[in-house]
Amino acid sequence: MRLSELKPGEVGVITKILGHGAFRKRVMEMGFVRGREVTMVLNAPLQDPIKYALMDYEVSLRRAEADLIEIALLEDWNSSRPVADANTDLHDSAEEMTLRRDQIINVALIGNPNCGKTSLFNFVSGAHEHVGNYAGVTVGAKAGSLSHKGYRINIVDLPGTYSLSAYSPEELYVMRYLKEETPDVIVNVVVASNLERNLYLTTELIDMNRSMIIDLNMYDELKKSGANLDFKNLGRMLGVPVVPTIAATGFGVEQLLDTIIEVYEMRNKDTRHIHVKMNPVLESAVDILKTEFKNDHTVSHHFSPRFLAIKFLERDPEVDNMLRSNPNFPKWEQIRNDESERIRRDLQEDITSAIAAEKYGFIQGALQENMEGSTAHDEKSTRIIDAFVTNKLFGFPIFLAVMWLMFWATFQLGSYPMSWIESLVSWISGLIGNYMADGPLKDLLLDGIIGGVGGVIVFLPNILILYAFISFMEDSGYMARVAFIMDKLMHKMGLHGKSFIPLVMGFGCNVPAIMSTRIIESRSSRLITILINPFISCSARIPIYVLLVGAFFPAHGAWIFTGLYLLGIIVAVLTAKMMRKFWFKADETPFVMELPPYRVPTFKATMRNMWSKADQYLRKMGGLILVASILIWALSYFPHHDANDVPASYRAEAIAEMPASTLTSNSPETINQMIADEYQQGHSILGHIGKFVEPVVRPMEFGWKTCVSLIAGAAAKEVVVSTLGVLYVGDDDAAALSQRLQQPSKVTGVTPFTQASALAFMVFVLLYFPCIATLTAIRRETGSWYYTLFSLVYNTSLAWIFAFITFRIASLFL
Ligand code: GDP
Ligand code: MG
Repeated sequence: MRLSELKPGEVGVITKILGHGAFRKRVMEMGFVRGREVTMVLNAPLQDPIKYALMDYEVSLRRAEADLIEIALLEDWNSSRPVADANTDLHDSAEEMTLRRDQIINVALIGNPNCGKTSLFNFVSGAHEHVGNYAGVTVGAKAGSLSHKGYRINIVDLPGTYSLSAYSPEELYVMRYLKEETPDVIVNVVVASNLERNLYLTTELIDMNRSMIIDLNMYDELKKSGANLDFKNLGRMLGVPVVPTIAATGFGVEQLLDTIIEVYEMRNKDTRHIHVKMNPVLESAVDILKTEFKNDHTVSHHFSPRFLAIKFLERDPEVDNMLRSNPNFPKWEQIRNDESERIRRDLQEDITSAIAAEKYGFIQGALQENMEGSTAHDEKSTRIIDAFVTNKLFGFPIFLAVMWLMFWATFQLGSYPMSWIESLVSWISGLIGNYMADGPLKDLLLDGIIGGVGGVIVFLPNILILYAFISFMEDSGYMARVAFIMDKLMHKMGLHGKSFIPLVMGFGCNVPAIMSTRIIESRSSRLITILINPFISCSARIPIYVLLVGAFFPAHGAWIFTGLYLLGIIVAVLTAKMMRKFWFKADETPFVMELPPYRVPTFKATMRNMWSKADQYLRKMGGLILVASILIWALSYFPHHDANDVPASYRAEAIAEMPASTLTSNSPETINQMIADEYQQGHSILGHIGKFVEPVVRPMEFGWKTCVSLIAGAAAKEVVVSTLGVLYVGDDDAAALSQRLQQPSKVTGVTPFTQASALAFMVFVLLYFPCIATLTAIRRETGSWYYTLFSLVYNTSLAWIFAFITFRIASLFL
């Protein structure tokens, strides 16, 4: 009987929890586990919810939830059961067999037509149902039963179906059966020699999140075909145990029955809930609906929210019927219409075929990895492209060529619009310099805002181009192939092919890259991927490189860029290897790498994607970077001193150090003003901070201004450039910052950077602590301050060491 049938005051013992995995998990966490006593306390006025006493507290359950909990009345339970010690470790021992006596497992056979369900059913139950080599032989459900290792197994042979939907009578039958009968274990029978089509149904059952097993039937035909399938690994990837059988002869059936018991008792090692991942465009639609369904307790507990969301998007009539009575239904329909429209626009495909294509992509990925001699490809163009792109010989060169093209476009093509924006910025600052009256406001505008924000905004084109490439690679399906060909290489670092995607995305921005590590299912791989991500040089660091390379190595730009990116990658790889070796024990949960069909992303979708990035970048300009620039300016402006505040001794010293050329070519007033400016910066709040920290970076000959810019980079890496822009203002404001960095100070005669220190500075910027946004992402995704702090300390120490080595070596040659 069900818990909902218990009358007030009656006591029952829980025997079984039905429903999908997430539901079972939730009620078990509430304390509803097998063998526990429950007393019904009272009904709410409308008979729903119902209050129960469980252990020493009271909980209330909705009627629909209580319907999914199977119980026995206490008196029946006590009289039927032998006394056994609950703590013994049982493995088919005599005690366990006794414990299991009279326990029932309900099993449903589900699979495509003609995959051998009835043969299996006949074999295990001793029935003689009609077996035929054509579709539609099994019309209704046939039930039989058998005993195995103390359990009574009720087995139901369902009609064959290709998917779970409500379009054919067979499909509708299966769907309703799953909803109403909630079998304990689903045995998904698949034909070993035609896995691609058969696994489609499997992906839907996985969405449903029920206890299940894959019966790899007709294993004899697979063997005969000469194909080689690593079914153990396939099972581990899918999170569903796979058992090969030959139903016609009974081979493997014993193993299948054992596995049914293992899964039922929740001690199967391969069982794990995975997601059949789809394109982000689809996933976001699924997410919205999933959250809606999850938060609405009246929605059926029979199906998982994800399954419902996908089926609802597919406009499955049965799911519509289930949800229609809900007051939120019109709202959900609205969501579905909006999302369908969006998906059609972005993918140029209707939602149902897009979902199907993605599921086939998942299956293809799973088979490509586990099957030799597979004919897993569906579409011809996809097959042809994949023949090259994932080829052993061409795969890597093609990938490197794509990367090279990406960086070339970013820096070479990007340099044209960059110079236009640069001239616009200096035109504006020239205008202000000439027409505005002197005073703090002018200083703020010129040195704080234009010096800071203007110095960074010029890099907008580079960043747009880079993002255009990354989103094109993601949307077209190429990124998935990259993960695929990188898998082996990534395994050498103790990571997985999927870790490669966040690393490539890191070239754009480390924050979304760290968030995208959610696709990695193994926790330790995820942690490592998160922690090495900041070494991947993000686009915010581009301005710094462009600035310094332009100033000090104009002829060798490409080499230095490549070198820096490579250094970042090498440090990431070594860190990953070390972490795997000393810190995180390997956990080898294999998972499927989807190979979705190739799509040509629409121009509109790419533009929209690019614009949303530009929007983000501009917001960052208007927000964080503007605030940081003003703050830095203010800290360098206050406390304010003018020429009269400069002590005579300071003046004398400055003049003594001044290059002769400055003294001869300037009027005494100009010289006075120059000394006053220098005094101001050095004696401002910022000057004190910078000089306090400077000794730490002195071995690389970074001045205190450089030091301040590094600290300011915590806000966002672009701020390093804007800070340099604010601090190294010369008397010639219109001169580009890159020129100002090369010119020796007219007061002290010291050049801000030499070639060697510029190089060391770039290395330092590449490796040192991540910006605040990245640290926040690390904190959120790892859920721990410990890793966040580690990232801060480890990266900065490494940056210092590498910068120092770079400086020493460079000093020898330059
Ligand atoms: P159902 O439609 O899923 O119920 O499939 P049936 O049980 O009716 O079987 C379809 C056909 O496949 C029959 O001709 C069976 O004899 C054959 N068959 C079933 N299992 C196996 C197997 O393991 N190996 C081979 N070679 N044939 C099988
Ligand atoms: Mg049949």
